[in-house]
Amino acid sequence: MAGTVHVLGAGLAGLAAALTLSAEGRKVIVHEAANKAGGRCRSYHDPLLNRVIDNGNHLMMSANDHVFAWLDDIGARSRVAVTDPAAYPFVNVETGERWTVRPNRGPIPWWIFVPSRRVRGARIRDFLEGIRLLRADPEKTVADCLSQDTMLWRRFWEPLTVGALNCAPHEGAAALLAEVHRRTFAKGEAFSRPVFVKESLADALIDPAIALLERRGVQVRLRSRVRALQYDSDRLNGFATTREEIVLHTDDRVIMALPSWVAAELMPEIGPPSGARMILNLHFLLDGKPDLPPVTGLTGSIAQWLFIKGEVASVTVSAADPFAETPADDISARIWPEIAVALGTPGAPQPPCRVVKEKRATFLQTPANEKRRPGAVTHWSNLFLAGDWTDTGLPATIEGALQSGRTAAASAMAQSGGPS
Ligand SMILES: Cc1cc2nc3c(=O)[nH]c(=O)nc-3n(C[C@H](O)[C@H](O)[C@H](O)COP(=O)(O)OP(=O)(O)OC[C@H]3O[C@@H](n4cnc5c(N)ncnc54)[C@H](O)[C@@H]3O)c2cc1C
Repeated sequence: MAGTVHVLGAGLAGLAAALTLSAEGRKVIVHEAANKAGGRCRSYHDPLLNRVIDNGNHLMMSANDHVFAWLDDIGARSRVAVTDPAAYPFVNVETGERWTVRPNRGPIPWWIFVPSRRVRGARIRDFLEGIRLLRADPEKTVADCLSQDTMLWRRFWEPLTVGALNCAPHEGAAALLAEVHRRTFAKGEAFSRPVFVKESLADALIDPAIALLERRGVQVRLRSRVRALQYDSDRLNGFATTREEIVLHTDDRVIMALPSWVAAELMPEIGPPSGARMILNLHFLLDGKPDLPPVTGLTGSIAQWLFIKGEVASVTVSAADPFAETPADDISARIWPEIAVALGTPGAPQPPCRVVKEKRATFLQTPANEKRRPGAVTHWSNLFLAGDWTDTGLPATIEGALQSGRTAAASAMAQSGGPS
């Protein structure tokens, strides 16, 4: 029998690693600091709203192969909804204008020539700038590649950058946005469909995975924070959690699937990307279910996306660091008026609201940090890395986290001579 694989962190990266290893019959133990799995992709009952809410709205896309493979593995495909055909309704909260972006089938983007399908007010030559983005070199930011005085910038590229990279366009790595664009809009409608969870993140992405891991005999040790790693120049010898001291045997492996800032504290030699950016979510409990699509893009506003789930209107503000110290009530008072416009009830009084600040939602996705993203294999022979910040070629997303977990598991098995 080959050794145990210890997975540190039960976010999606760690869970994907654990699921891949357990499918091959490996003995796996997951060590997680929190009292539940899911990490930055989690749900909980909120007493103020008396509803289950997510820590933040998560938008996925039909191009996300790892997401769909994950849903199939854990038997949860029916727990997400896909807008088919792709359609992105938008509202400008300053002017009240509404329009819907509808990419066409196939890779030739004729939708950009059809006024009713493209971004309202954008010129065709502005769309062609997308080609410049696709050719961006690794040193460039998004702002280096695209003109910022166009309607397309204000209504498409800027919100897309802030949404996909969670930072300002003058910070965000153009190559990362280009990769998103290449895999989605540049391939046509079938790859550009919005995908979102029907009930909650936990219901669709986490709980079914935990149930499957338990059926396979994987232990997920909650409230088990990794405090220190013991290592020498070429091998990890053990680690300490708040529950126990683990001594690693020759055949044991460790997959570290912790956020970059925790990895940096425990093992600075890894030298992961530095810095993070915040995402703010506001959950408003309305009187009834509004007559709006499940996801609407917002422009001319502080917030970028409005999600409707039953009577709860949830709003995302990415790159929200300027609000880090602002009291929750002040934030909701500033944002509610724009949401009231989007809901078609301008001037309506503010309903109860829960504000969730995720101060470290993603690592800072700059060109400099792109170069610092490590691969799964390290020079410590029994240590492998996973997490949305590792070198996935993708922004910090669910898709990237799942991909990284699978890659780390495959590397750990390859190194230990395959499944026993
Ligand atoms: C508000 C918000 C909105 C987002 N929106 C989107 C979106 O629209 N689309 C999208 O694709 N992605 C989105 N993301 C990003 C996505 O959630 C992350 O990329 C993904 O969940 C990261 O997974 P991970 O496993 O790499 O990291 P994590 O989820 O951070 O997992 C790491 C785990 O390690 C645990 N841990 C930390 N320290 C220790 C320790 N010392 N010992 C043991 N365990 C420890 C943590 O508790 C956590 O469970 C969003 C993120 C946030 C926060």
